[in-house]
Amino acid sequence: MHTFKTESAQQTEEIGKQLAELLQPNDVILLDGDLGAGKTTFTKGLAQGLGIKRYVKSPTFTIIHEYHDGRMPLFHMDVYRLEDSSGDDLGWDEYFYGGGVTVIEWSQFIQDYLPDTFLKIQLNRDGQSDETRVLNFQAQGTRYQQLLDQLKERLK
Ligand code: ADP
Ligand code: MG
Repeated sequence: MHTFKTESAQQTEEIGKQLAELLQPNDVILLDGDLGAGKTTFTKGLAQGLGIKRYVKSPTFTIIHEYHDGRMPLFHMDVYRLEDSSGDDLGWDEYFYGGGVTVIEWSQFIQDYLPDTFLKIQLNRDGQSDETRVLNFQAQGTRYQQLLDQLKERLK
């Protein structure tokens, strides 16, 4: 577990961007935290770090947006709307093992379908100011332990 604190949307994007440069095909990143915590903001930076030029916007209504113009595909999901139907397997594994990077906002809503290993980032507001966010990184599995260690090194 590792914690980063940011004081602006730009700083949160920058962490996403730095992480992206370390990512490999089939990596899965989970983003949890309340509305406005910065999950989509983080993903924008991550997309930028993958070299994606298309505008990244929240897939709230469509569940999944795919971007194929970076160095790897990005599968960006917002599964909030599946809260009441999380028993349905919508073919998640095709994304998780599809050779790209999968980012899942509100991942807790499809808990039963998540892979065994992943990097989970919990984003929270912090009382200090409207723009303060605390990002808690938790790695599950050796690949993601390693990834988190590399990220810590990069952001030192
Ligand atoms: P979510 O996807 O978690 O609902 P968004 O990324 O869509 O959240 O929205 C976060 C909002 O908070 C944006 O308007 C962003 O500009 C603002 N914001 C302010 N400070 C920060 C910060 N430190 N990190 C991320 N977003 C921030
Ligand atoms: Mg969002």
